[in-house]
Amino acid sequence: MGDMGLVVVGAGGRMGQTLIRAVHTMEGARLVGAVERPGSPHLGKDAGELAGIGIVNVEIGDDPLAAFAKADGVLDFTTPRATVEFAGYAAQARIVHVVGTTGLSDEDEAAVAAAARHATIVKSGNMSLGVNLLSVLVRQAAKALDAADFDIEILEMHHRHKVDAPSGTALLLGAAAAEGRDENLAEKSIRVRDGHTGAREAGTIGFATLRGGSVVGEHSVILAGTGERIVLSHHAEDRTIFARGAVKAALWAREKKPGLYSMLDVLGLA
Ligand code: NAP
Repeated sequence: MGDMGLVVVGAGGRMGQTLIRAVHTMEGARLVGAVERPGSPHLGKDAGELAGIGIVNVEIGDDPLAAFAKADGVLDFTTPRATVEFAGYAAQARIVHVVGTTGLSDEDEAAVAAAARHATIVKSGNMSLGVNLLSVLVRQAAKALDAADFDIEILEMHHRHKVDAPSGTALLLGAAAAEGRDENLAEKSIRVRDGHTGAREAGTIGFATLRGGSVVGEHSVILAGTGERIVLSHHAEDRTIFARGAVKAALWAREKKPGLYSMLDVLGLA
């Protein structure tokens, strides 16, 4: 089998450019398309040149269907709306769709799951090895420490341009904690506190969000008991960890049947 032909959508974005560089350096993958939204100032530019690695002879276009028809897979870190559209096209083309986009609504999630009947989709709020390993540790810790004795709080900080909160990673870690306690995150999460909130309810999972500067991604899961506190943290220093994880996911998914997979499946941590 030859190299896997990949399309990067959102090619002009922070992750888009990092993905173009990752595909270029990783073995077994080749860039065959780059897509931006209609009207983008990046249309017509060479994808490699935009990403700072020199000309790769892939022009940034605005026609995803045409690009997907020539590809084995798509790397997608864009917006929820665009991701739902791309999942439909990936299903039509019956190819691999790696989704890193965060902030999807329940309706968006359902649309992606429906597309996974024909596309092989790997979706994760964080594509790094470190955070996925951390989620396994969080699940274990939450299981071992009784909800009556230990309160779980998740703190995250990201750069000033991030548009959704809490981060996809914070939600992923929250879901792992809830799973460890056989609970459903949706029923236990406290997303915001403001004013006279009353005392903390046992068993809830709280989130706190910080935004500023150029922070790539900081996450801490705090398990706070009486007289002691356990803090499990991950610090992302470079977006390359997400991009390399995404390419790895695409290569892994190439041989898999259509369906919805997670990064835990890719890394063998499920
Ligand atoms: P960004 O810099 O804003 O990049 C998003 C790109 O997508 C932009 O270039 C945007 O173009 C483009 N886009 C929007 N709609 C499009 C469409 N219909 N067709 C083609 N391109 C379209 O954001 P980012 O920081 O790279 O983050 C992107 C997403 O990835 C966010 O949801 C973020 O939370 C997530 N993320 C996930 C992970 C992970 O490991 N899972 C890691 C990092 C980031 P315009 O700017 O012209 O609209």
